[in-house]
Amino acid sequence: MAIRSGIDYINGLRDGREVWIGGERVKDVTTHPALKHGVESIANLYDMQHDPKYRDILTYESPVTGERVGMSFLAPKSVEDLIRRRNACRLWADATHGMMGRSPDFLNTTLMVLASYPEYFNQCDPRFGQNIVEYYQYVRENDLSLTHAIVDPQIDRSKQPHEQADPYTYLGVVRETSDGLILRGAKMLATLAPYTDEVIVYPFPNLRKGDEKYAAAFAIPLNTSGLKIICREPLDLSRGLIDHPLGGRFDEMDAVLIFDDVLVPWERVFLKGNVDLSTRMQIALHLPTFTAHQTSIRALAKTDFLLGIAFLIAEYIDIKDFLHVQEKLGEMITMRETINACIRASESDAVYLKNGLIRPSDQALQAVRIWFPKFYPRMIEILQLIGAGGLMMTPSQHDLTGIMSEDIKKYYRGAHVSAEDRIGLFKLAWDLVGDGFGSRQLLYERYYAGDPVRLTARSYLTYDREPYMDIVRDFLDETRQLQYRRESNLRAAK
Ligand SMILES: Cc1cc2nc3c(=O)[nH]c(=O)nc-3n(C[C@H](O)[C@H](O)[C@H](O)COP(=O)(O)OP(=O)(O)OC[C@H]3O[C@@H](n4cnc5c(N)ncnc54)[C@H](O)[C@@H]3O)c2cc1C
Repeated sequence: MAIRSGIDYINGLRDGREVWIGGERVKDVTTHPALKHGVESIANLYDMQHDPKYRDILTYESPVTGERVGMSFLAPKSVEDLIRRRNACRLWADATHGMMGRSPDFLNTTLMVLASYPEYFNQCDPRFGQNIVEYYQYVRENDLSLTHAIVDPQIDRSKQPHEQADPYTYLGVVRETSDGLILRGAKMLATLAPYTDEVIVYPFPNLRKGDEKYAAAFAIPLNTSGLKIICREPLDLSRGLIDHPLGGRFDEMDAVLIFDDVLVPWERVFLKGNVDLSTRMQIALHLPTFTAHQTSIRALAKTDFLLGIAFLIAEYIDIKDFLHVQEKLGEMITMRETINACIRASESDAVYLKNGLIRPSDQALQAVRIWFPKFYPRMIEILQLIGAGGLMMTPSQHDLTGIMSEDIKKYYRGAHVSAEDRIGLFKLAWDLVGDGFGSRQLLYERYYAGDPVRLTARSYLTYDREPYMDIVRDFLDETRQLQYRRESNLRAAK
């Protein structure tokens, strides 16, 4: 089938899936007011693949059929491949200005990595390696979209999965049948789940002895019988794009997934019952590094958008000559350049792996994973500090054309721009710094890569610290020798 169009994607979502919003079952996710604009934004990404302008950036020839498939499925074998992947990710990220963190290229990348290590899954069961390879090819050739669900419900974090009061609050295997695994329980979060085709599930990497039944990795369609998708409160307020230019287009709905004795066929099982393989999987396969290439490129696209907003605020209300404003904008620029430099360094310092893949430098991308969750809140703070009261003091879309429109033109204008331009910009900024959409974006950037505390600590724990300690040990040795020589010289001089 190869690359799909937006309408192919939309039609695929009309599959009877069980999605709940505000206590009601959604009949059709593609027409529901809280979901349809998000669906349209993803559909646009699929349409872009067919645009002659973007075709060669966003797609490549399938090694199986020769038809065009999405570039984010490409298993990189050279630095040039990494750059091709970067250009494709950037193009999609720019289409949403980085607001849809889980655009399909994120999980296409995940799947590409998992399928590059069939022998890892074979350690669990000789069928599982082939399962993951065939699943990757199936998703690539049919251009499906995936969500992923890793994190367990936030019930009692002081206990392991098997220690929870109800053994099936966390998603676990109830029994095995000749057809596959029966799973019961929930996963806390799957972004985009109401409008992706399938979900891939793998365990949060903290399993210990006793947690065997929670050690399951698999993928199923979202219309699988017994699978319930419960959405959070929508952020698309359907109030018009002038009032909510971002929320009205890019709310990538997050959902809890409940598995009510769901059958996962054997050909869709990738790991089962092995705590050690489940817990080591992400690091052993370098998964966070490959996905961090995509997420860092998206972070850069978003940062560029925020920079544009900040620069325009400074221009529109003419605060650009104040020193502290310049200092804050300069700070944002250095954040942008740091992310950009890390992406480039990750490509130029990439290393070849035994399986023929080239892996971007993990340290450079780890730096973005750790710093972007700090950069982003600071950039939002800077927008608040420079936009100040004007951020919220904007009239609604209706006021612009209503009876007060002449007053609005006079009192809402900027230093050198019309009221319409200034209001448009400040409403855009408000969507990011003040609105529900912006709050969710902030939480996303803090947590998309996992818990920032444990992530940063892992940087220390896994870092090769010896060379740095050697520098200091050598210096101390040198100091002692120097001191000894000085004392000898002094004694000789006496
Ligand atoms: C907007 C958004 C979208 C997301 N999308 C997805 C998705 O699509 N798929 C998916 O699987 N996940 C998704 N996530 C989940 C994300 O991976 C988690 O939020 C993240 O891993 C943190 O887990 P948690 O939210 O359960 O927090 P918790 O783990 O419950 O942490 C709460 C607090 O307790 C501390 N804490 C908890 N346990 C420990 C410990 N053992 N040691 C030290 N401190 C601890 C944490 O540091 C934190 O301060 C998303 C999250 C957000 C906010």
